[in-house]
Amino acid sequence: MSDKIELLSMGLDEIRLWLKSHGFESYRAKQLIGWLVSGAKFSEMRNLPSNLIEFLCENALEEPVKIIKSLVSKKDGTEKYLFSLADGSCVEGVLMPYRHGNTLCISTQVGCNMGCKFCASTLGGKLRNLSAGEMLGQVVSVNRLHGSKTVQNVVMMGSGEPLDNYGNVLKFIRLICAGEGLNISQRRITLSTCGLVDKIKSLADEGLSITLSISLHAPNDAIRQSLMPIAKVHSVKDIINACKHYISLTHRRVSFEYALIKGVNDSQEQAEELCQILRGFQCHVNLITLNAVEETGYLGSDRITANKFFDYLNERNIAVSMRRTMGEDIQGACGQLRNEFIKGGGQN
Ligand code: SF4
Repeated sequence: MSDKIELLSMGLDEIRLWLKSHGFESYRAKQLIGWLVSGAKFSEMRNLPSNLIEFLCENALEEPVKIIKSLVSKKDGTEKYLFSLADGSCVEGVLMPYRHGNTLCISTQVGCNMGCKFCASTLGGKLRNLSAGEMLGQVVSVNRLHGSKTVQNVVMMGSGEPLDNYGNVLKFIRLICAGEGLNISQRRITLSTCGLVDKIKSLADEGLSITLSISLHAPNDAIRQSLMPIAKVHSVKDIINACKHYISLTHRRVSFEYALIKGVNDSQEQAEELCQILRGFQCHVNLITLNAVEETGYLGSDRITANKFFDYLNERNIAVSMRRTMGEDIQGACGQLRNEFIKGGGQN
């Protein structure tokens, strides 16, 4: 890992102090952040003096995140990226064009320790946490590729469990929403967790207005435990209670992600169980048919079964959407592109 400083992980006050301690005017910090979040190279930072540019080249990391591969879906315009990091690790992200704006799904860890049985990101375990700057760098590099303001919404649903990297994720949220940074509204940020109950409660106290999304994927503990090891630690009931606590403090609706898996969680009985636990609760259910990953052996539900599941919830007044399975032709499931890259001889 380079010993150069990673400026994208630093807030305005930190950069001011750093510049001042090296003899530069602290007002340069705002200018510098403006350039950094635009993805500019140091040599392109035209309004900075040459001695500062020289100092940055010697002491700061340029482009901590680089796009080394991108694939565009011919079916739906989804674009998938492989990002390389300064230590040679790589993570992936997906840009999805939605009616409410382009949404970038970013990674928060290299790999993941949570062990969900249907997920390609966890196959090699977690290698390390991403820094706040490495999360921000994914957004910056996509904006640089397609033009500023390309990314309008950010979801933390790529590799990693965001709440297992709590401090850096919180810092990332504050950096990306900062006025001198990309100035994205907190309401356009979604944090997705497999259900770390204590951390959900801590998050409720942070005074944020982001959307909390729970990867639920099962209506009861038995099925959930067969899919997600974390379910042996936190029951569905504990998660629902933590979500109610979150809603009571933030007044924000919680989303539940439910990947329909053929023959596992997609029956009418399971739809009824889901209705039972969510009834009268300020939430939204996002159904999606699982993007199959060869190594896991799980398949997505067929369209008829998925539609029946949707109708069952909808008819019982549960707020529900059926998300399109995106990027099927470009290894759209989380972790697939990175795994193919590693198999092909690339680094982690
Ligand atoms: S689904 Fe999310 S939490 Fe579960 S293993 Fe994959 S990346 Fe980790």
